[in-house]
Amino acid sequence: MKTLIRGGTVVTATDQYRGDILIEDEKIAAVAAPGGLIPEGGQISVIDAAGKYVIPGGIDVHTHLDMPFGGTTSADDFESGTIAAAHGGTTSVVDFAIQYKGQTLRHALDAWMAKADGKAAIDYGFHMIITDLNDAVEAEMDALVREGVTSFKLFMAYPGVFMLDDASIFRALLRTGANGGTICMHAENGGVIDVLVKKALAEGKTAPKYHALTRPARAEAEATHRAIALAEMAGVPIYIVHLSAAEALEMVTVARDRGLPAYAETCPQYLFLSYDNYEEPDFSGAKYVMSPPLRPKETQDRLWRGLAGNDLQAVSTDHCPFCMKEQKELGKGDFSKIPNGAPGIETRMSLVFDGGVRTGKISVNRWVELTSTSPAKIFGLFPRKGTIAPGSDADLVVFDPNRKQTLSVKTLHMKVDYNPYEGRQVTGVSETVLSRGKVIVENGKFTGRAGAGSFVKRSPRS
Ligand SMILES: [Zn+2]
Repeated sequence: MKTLIRGGTVVTATDQYRGDILIEDEKIAAVAAPGGLIPEGGQISVIDAAGKYVIPGGIDVHTHLDMPFGGTTSADDFESGTIAAAHGGTTSVVDFAIQYKGQTLRHALDAWMAKADGKAAIDYGFHMIITDLNDAVEAEMDALVREGVTSFKLFMAYPGVFMLDDASIFRALLRTGANGGTICMHAENGGVIDVLVKKALAEGKTAPKYHALTRPARAEAEATHRAIALAEMAGVPIYIVHLSAAEALEMVTVARDRGLPAYAETCPQYLFLSYDNYEEPDFSGAKYVMSPPLRPKETQDRLWRGLAGNDLQAVSTDHCPFCMKEQKELGKGDFSKIPNGAPGIETRMSLVFDGGVRTGKISVNRWVELTSTSPAKIFGLFPRKGTIAPGSDADLVVFDPNRKQTLSVKTLHMKVDYNPYEGRQVTGVSETVLSRGKVIVENGKFTGRAGAGSFVKRSPRS
């Protein structure tokens, strides 16, 4: 099977040029100047990309599909979530498997493999969330790295549920020094937050906005600093997930200025929404209840500067949708019972293009880097994914930089009953999407198949 993508502007993290791309089976076979590729023999399908960008498929390294949380389960499973991702130009996700207390990592991985198997429409990998670390679990970390689950997520928040103490975190960090894994950290001071939440509820403060008011930016900054310090003492890199606060970004910047391998991602919600959303009337603030919470509007510029200057290396989504009806509603009268999370897997590429590239905050190359190449490199998917080069997987997006789309729950494909960006117009839309050489979205229509996505073994740090 051969496909030729003709006449587009090829954009990678480093280059931008007019070129044609030849795909054979699942891989990119050749890239050449326009008209330079005349494939011989066999059937060939041609995709006209004139006037469009051709970019490596988006890679979202932070999603929670089919995830139990707070007595309910995130609304998108691996089928609806990955189909929505494909519509938005994302062709790989790295989701999170959860080890619950008393379980082995193997048990957790098997459970999440079963959730994705036969359902995922795009390729996927897993980070392993460790909530219970003992000698046996430490040894299991090595086995997982060998099997391509090369990153582990730890929590400094949610005491009694997910939180690990500093000693356990430090042990896990040390282990990755030996096995080549990477630790991802949810950096918020869970102890402080717990006290603030209890105090607020005791004072009768129950509205959604108190979710944000009980999770201070300093609690994120403190944990970010501590996480980086623990990693420094262990002599290993660290990756901070969903960084939201300017105060936390300062900690990453200081560490990087000292030459430490500290990495961090932010998410579109922190770039486009703010604390003000919690002040929306009635219970609407619940739409934005996520952790860390949305921050003051001024933070957005700081985060964009972090992205432009490489103090932040990736934009992922933390896609974790819960419907307002029956799910977010669980927290009516008690903000601490509102399931944490919001949808975003489908809107990331367009939002960051529209709000970042079109405004001149970042270049088109940096956009590709932040949404695909850099996460691929950090998490062991590069060069199989995250770039356009002979031998790489033909995960490609034909992206129309001029087409406009109004983001709305009515037209998006995520299985959730609201959208945090409802009514927002973006310019720049993913038009045709290929996953390992196969067209899975054609002009906004899904043509792929649930179950066509494969588990991807990721490489350890070399
Ligand atoms: Zn998350």
